[in-house]
Amino acid sequence: MLSIIPMLPQLGIGAADLAAAFLFLYGLHRMSSPVTAPSGIFVAGIGMAVAVLASFLYAFGVSQAAQPDLMINIGLVIVALAIGGGTAWWGGRTVAMTAMPQMVAIYNGMGGGAAGAIAAVELFGGKADGMTALIVTLVGALIGAVSLSGSLIAWAKLDGVIKKPLRFKGQQVFNGIILLATLAVGGYLVAATQDKSLLVLAMPASIYLFFACALALGIFMTLPIGGADMPVVISIFNAFTGLAVGLEGFVLQNPALMIAGMVVGAAGMLLTLLMAKAMNRSVSNVVFTNFGEVSKYKQGNIKGSLKPMQAGDAGIAMRYASSVIIVPGYGLAVAQGQGKLYEFVKLLQAGGVSVKFAVHPVAGRMPGQMDVLLAEAGVPYDMIFQLEDINDQFSSTDFALVIGANDVVNPAARSDKTSPIFGMPILNADKAKKVFVVKRGEGKGYAGIVNALFYGENCDMVYGDAQAVLIKMIEAVRGLGLPAVA
Ligand code: NAP
Repeated sequence: MLSIIPMLPQLGIGAADLAAAFLFLYGLHRMSSPVTAPSGIFVAGIGMAVAVLASFLYAFGVSQAAQPDLMINIGLVIVALAIGGGTAWWGGRTVAMTAMPQMVAIYNGMGGGAAGAIAAVELFGGKADGMTALIVTLVGALIGAVSLSGSLIAWAKLDGVIKKPLRFKGQQVFNGIILLATLAVGGYLVAATQDKSLLVLAMPASIYLFFACALALGIFMTLPIGGADMPVVISIFNAFTGLAVGLEGFVLQNPALMIAGMVVGAAGMLLTLLMAKAMNRSVSNVVFTNFGEVSKYKQGNIKGSLKPMQAGDAGIAMRYASSVIIVPGYGLAVAQGQGKLYEFVKLLQAGGVSVKFAVHPVAGRMPGQMDVLLAEAGVPYDMIFQLEDINDQFSSTDFALVIGANDVVNPAARSDKTSPIFGMPILNADKAKKVFVVKRGEGKGYAGIVNALFYGENCDMVYGDAQAVLIKMIEAVRGLGLPAVA
C-alpha cells in the first residue's frame, strides 16, 4: 500500500490531465447551442486552469536535481501567466463586438506562437533527439510559426492596418519556393542530427533559418488573400494551431495538450468547411483565388431607384402587419442597436404581429456574431431561425426588415454568374411582400458590390444609424397609443 506514495504526484498529474480533457470536450459540447454556450465557455476555461495546474504538478514532480533553476522558472511562469491572463481579461472585457474577429485572430496567433515556442525550446535544447520526435517537433514548429505570422497579417487586415491584398505575378510559385526552402532546412536539421558529419551550418543558425522561412511562409500565404475571406483564413489557422499544439503535446508526452490540440484542430477544420459551404466556395478557392477583388467585376444593369422612407412611417406600417421577418447584419453590430431592436420587436408582438429573426450563417464578420448579438439583447432563441429553416417563409411575409445587412440579402448571388458572391446562399428577403432596408447611406457591403434588392419595386430605404432609426420607430409606434393585443 505504502509503495503507491512515490507514485502519487504522477497519478495526480494523470488525473488532472484527464479532468482537463473531459472539461474541454464537455465545454465544447455545450458551445454547440447558444442556450448553453456561455456555460460551455466557462467549463472549458476551468479545464484550461486544471491543465495549468497539472503543468505545475509536473514541474514539481520532476526531481530537483534535473532542474536546478526550478524556482526561477516557476517565478517566470507565474509572471507570464499574470501578464497573459491580465491582458486577456482586460481585452475580453473591453473589446467591441465588431472587433471580435481581430481578437480571435490575435489569440489564435498566440496559440500557434506558443506551440512554435515549445518546439524552439525542444530544438535549441537538443531534447528532440530521436528521429520521430524530431520530425514531429519540426512539423509542429512549422505549422505553429505559419499560424502565428499568418494570424498577425489576418489581424492587420481585419483592423484596417493593411488595407489592400498584396498580389504580384508568380505569387503561388514564390510561396511554393518558400515552402520548399522550409522543408529543405527541416530535412537538413533531421539529417544533421542523425549524422554529425553532414553539419555544414551550425545547428542554432539552421534552427533560426527554419523558423524564419516558416514565418515568411505564413506572411506571404496570407498577404494576397482579400479582407472578405479573412474569417475563413482565421478559422484555417485555428485548425493549424490546434494541430501544432497537439503535435507538441505528443513531443512533451502531455495528454492535456494532445487532446486540447486535437479538439481545436478538428473544430477549426469543421468550422472552416462550414463557412466555406455557407459562401458556396471551396477552401482552396478561398486560399488560392482572389475573391474580394471587385475592380474587375462589372455590375450588371440595375433597374429601378432607391426610395427613401421615414423611420416612423416604416415602424407604424409594421405595427399594422400580421408578420415581419427581421434580417440582422453587420451594421446592427456597428450601431449596437440590438437592445432597441428587441424593444421594437416587443412592441410589435404586443400588437399581435408575428416576428421572426432570420440569421445568415456568415452575417456579420464572424460565425455566430448575430446569434451572440441577439442573445445579448435577450431575444428568445425560439424566435431565431437559420437560413434553411426560414427562407421559404419570406414569400408569405408582410414585411422583411433588413437591418444593417447587405451581402447576405443580395439577389445577385442567385442570378448574376459574374458576381463575386454568385452561388452564396442568401436570405430571400426580396421575396417578401414589402422590404424595409435600414442603413446609413449608399455604403456597400463587405463584398463591395451594389445590391439590386435596394432598387426593387417592393423595397423602401430607411436611412440612418440602425439604433437611431429604431428609436424613431419605437417613438412612432408608442405615439399611436394602441392597446396591446392579449
Ligand atoms: P455587409 O454586407 O457587410 O453589409 C453591412 C451593411 O451595414 C453595409 O452595407 C452598411 O451600409 C450598413 N451599416 C454599417 N454601419 C451601419 C450602422 N451603424 N447603421 C446601419 N447600417 C449600417 O453585412 P452582412 O450582410 O452581415 O454580410 C456579411 C459579409 O461579411 C458577407 O459578405 C460575408 O461573406 C462576409 N463574411 C462574413 C463572415 C462571417 O463569419 N460572418 C466570414 C467571411 C466573410 P451603410 O454604410 O450605407 O450604412
